[in-house]
Amino acid sequence: MSTGILSIDLAALVANWRALDAKSAAETAAVVKADGYGLGAGRVARSLLNAGCRTFFVATAEEGAGLRQSIGPEPEIRVFSGHMAGDTEMIGDLGLVPMLNSLDQLTRHFEALPGHAFGIQLDTGMNRLGMEWDEWGAVAEMAIAQGPCLLMSHLACADEPDHPMNAYQLDMFHRMTDGLGVPRSLAATGGVLLGPDYHFDMTRPGIGLYGGRPFTDARPVVQLDLPVIQIRDLREGEVVGYGNSWQAKRPSRIATVSAGYADGLHRALSNLATLWDGDRPCPLVGRVSMDLITVDVTDLGESPDVLSILGPHQGVDDLADLIGTIGYEILTSLGQRYYRRYIPG
Ligand SMILES: *Cc1c(COP(=O)(O)O)cnc(C)c1O
Repeated sequence: MSTGILSIDLAALVANWRALDAKSAAETAAVVKADGYGLGAGRVARSLLNAGCRTFFVATAEEGAGLRQSIGPEPEIRVFSGHMAGDTEMIGDLGLVPMLNSLDQLTRHFEALPGHAFGIQLDTGMNRLGMEWDEWGAVAEMAIAQGPCLLMSHLACADEPDHPMNAYQLDMFHRMTDGLGVPRSLAATGGVLLGPDYHFDMTRPGIGLYGGRPFTDARPVVQLDLPVIQIRDLREGEVVGYGNSWQAKRPSRIATVSAGYADGLHRALSNLATLWDGDRPCPLVGRVSMDLITVDVTDLGESPDVLSILGPHQGVDDLADLIGTIGYEILTSLGQRYYRRYIPG
């Protein structure tokens, strides 16, 4: 097999959902947008469904349509982007629940699908999605009369517990929703960890389910093993890869490994990342190219068949830290060429 194997531990995923669920008295939903953070929304959602999760969030109606095929008609699928022009049929036929973000979306929804379930997204300061204070003030009474199933907002700085923005947004959310008698949701993974004031009626973790920060107690969910295609011996002074960016300072053995930036191993990892042969580290040397990376295996003594780039010694956040990004981006960049092997939950 010449492609990498992305192993996805569904038991760890379920354990992470249960651990986050145990932190609040609220219903714990699951965010499976971007194909379940790159791990396969259908498989992820079916495992969580078996564990008792009943509500799933996606980014777009198209994602909701795909998920509906995987999990059947019963579970609730909610859409963060709301009700966009062209979404009406999907929302109506597949029973998706849009989180409406503006007066335009409210109007579109009530006209196109009267009586169809909806929620409302409020902007409490992030300035990204949802109705702001003034807009909400003008339409709240009319919107509440239509019976929304949820009022939600999103925290901008929940991964920094001491950031004053958290308390500010919590206060805004109370002012915009207190006394309206509608179920409420404010917390994603970071918000769950901020404590009960932030939990309301439903929490919406994503990254914590998949083993990423800020849920530092999460069980790791992914392992990525890459096959070695070729091994060659270099004399001192020979160079490796595009741009000759690495030069052997000693006689060296270089393994050419099947995966590159087209598979989500960012080119910025060139000369920075470490691959692992079990417990033994092997530095990535030279530039990451589209389909291949090159690794210094001189110190191993033998020739590995496979090297790991995600595993017990290097998680998604470790890899992210090397290149100034976040685990979310590492996960959602994992390419379609990998064989996804699911370890049952
Ligand atoms: C992505 C997202 C979530 C999940 O966030 P995590 O940080 O991955 O837990 C929850 N709510 C909204 C609105 C989102 O966009």
